[in-house]
Amino acid sequence: MATGEQQQQPHFVIIPLLAQGHIIPACDMARLLATHGAVVTVVLTPANLARVQPTADLISASNLPVRFASLPFPASAASIPDSCQNIDLVHSLELFTNFFLAMSLLQTPLVQYLRDQHPPPTCIISDQFQPWGMYVARELSIPRLIFHGFSSFALVAMRNIKDQAIYKSLTDPHKPFLIPGLPQPIQATKAKAPPFFYEETPGYEKMAEEALMAEDTCDGIVLNTCLELESHFIKQLEDVTGKKVYGIGPLPLANKDAASKAVRGNKPSIDELQCLQWLDSMPASSVIYVSFGSITHTMPPQLIEIGAGLEASGLRFIWVIKQSELMAPEVSKWLTEEGFEERVAGRGMVIKGWAPQAAILAHTAVGGFVTHCGWNSVTEAVSNGVPMLTWPHFADQFLNEMVVVEVLKVGVPVGIQKPITYGEEKTIVGRDVVEKGVRCLLECGGEGEERRGRVRELGEKVCKAVEDGGSSVLNLMKLIEIGSNK
Ligand code: UDP
Repeated sequence: MATGEQQQQPHFVIIPLLAQGHIIPACDMARLLATHGAVVTVVLTPANLARVQPTADLISASNLPVRFASLPFPASAASIPDSCQNIDLVHSLELFTNFFLAMSLLQTPLVQYLRDQHPPPTCIISDQFQPWGMYVARELSIPRLIFHGFSSFALVAMRNIKDQAIYKSLTDPHKPFLIPGLPQPIQATKAKAPPFFYEETPGYEKMAEEALMAEDTCDGIVLNTCLELESHFIKQLEDVTGKKVYGIGPLPLANKDAASKAVRGNKPSIDELQCLQWLDSMPASSVIYVSFGSITHTMPPQLIEIGAGLEASGLRFIWVIKQSELMAPEVSKWLTEEGFEERVAGRGMVIKGWAPQAAILAHTAVGGFVTHCGWNSVTEAVSNGVPMLTWPHFADQFLNEMVVVEVLKVGVPVGIQKPITYGEEKTIVGRDVVEKGVRCLLECGGEGEERRGRVRELGEKVCKAVEDGGSSVLNLMKLIEIGSNK
């Protein structure tokens, strides 16, 4: 960066939040940076490396200089079980502060590890939830970028809400208000647009302070988005933060071959070839894919309503149920002994555990996605031209629903009004609503047809962003310049 200094071989150190929704884009980013001439180190812990080992093996087989630093998880120092190395393994809200503490304790071992690396690190890309990355960059005297797992829209909305002090005067978390500063009127509630670090949450004061400081002092913001998807909000984010924003997405498109798509994030719990062959046997755009990402936990009564709605729709579907959700005996019983799987055999597939989502969404047989609106899932749907039935649960997901439904107009809402908190027992959406929603996605003619046309067109545009000369590739080259000290 500094003029007159010697150009170096770029060596990026990526510090993701230890959660699948952050580790997956970190691996994609590593692959892209390495393809453009950089050495990359991805910082993980043993249990997290084990999950992405299939991806690490493919990257290594393609001779890309990506290293995976597996640092011991500082469980005892943070008073958390060693088994809690990933957010989806932390099953108690009380342990979350310990989890964030454990990650921050990786700072000293990471600096020691990096001091021995050749070529030496030249740039840190630290997740928004890993603000301590700023201390690592400071110790090594190298630039630092922040990776935000959120959409530009969500970041702008949260900033504007904070800057206008909306929540200072708002007592009812469910009272609608207009998000300030947007080019179109969009309503939110405090429950749907949580303030994250913009308001003090007991137990997270230090982290909030550090996160804001990390953003204020960073050398730029890296996002899994692109101009073709969010040009207005990227520009607005640059204005409100005063930082250069580098959209380098959609990151899922970094996985070009079938094998990389199939093992993205973890080894799938089904034979991916069998799954793809099943899709091959289905007509184009006829299958609904249902998955709520890596962290949500759907309770048995809601799972049964989803299944019953899919069954009643008569449509073809792939439905992902997590291993942790299958621990409830009534779910397994309903699926097998009570005959659900038998009744839908031939047109419905239940994936029990990790699904090869990137490969499934890329298949032409998939015509709709019932999603919790995690930003990765949204970018995967859009880049494959798949319309969405939006079912947000918490975090930034309601804001992403607004992008999908109100800004891009490529989805329909299932109608969730309040966050679905972890382990909630209530049935929130009934089978009739599920049935109507999925039918609406595949509807011939009318709005369904228009929505499909829009998302396909958008899909083609965002794919161009990652082609030679595309906006995301140009931004990637700018990152390489930062890492080369140019
Ligand atoms: N994912 C997957 N298989 C699964 C569940 C999730 O491949 O069975 C991937 C999905 O493709 C996405 C990521 O995990 O890339 C989840 O990120 P997202 O932002 O959508 O949601 P989160 O899990 O962070 O809530």
